[in-house]
Amino acid sequence: MLKIFYPCIAVDSIVDITKELLDKNQIKGLILDIDNTLVPNHVAEADENAVKWIETIKAEGYKMCIVSNASKKRVVRFNNKLQLYAGHRAMKPGTAAFK
Ligand SMILES: [Mg+2]
Repeated sequence: MLKIFYPCIAVDSIVDITKELLDKNQIKGLILDIDNTLVPNHVAEADENAVKWIETIKAEGYKMCIVSNASKKRVVRFNNKLQLYAGHRAMKPGTAAFK
């Protein structure tokens, strides 16, 4: 994995990722996973918590996208409310989808 993508911050929930946290760490964008990141594993659609957080961070001007190993069908359905750039079958931890 490319070192630039190594995590240097860990939080319990996406809602702990705030404008203040991103600014303090000079983070300009987020590459998001779906399962066990935006929602618990196998939740089909983005829940209110995820939608609200993404809208908040998006409105602050941060770039976001989804990179998921899930199928196209799953990612498209999940992303329906979010309308983010989203890649499916990313073959993580491989780096091709990130590049
Ligand atoms: Mg995951």
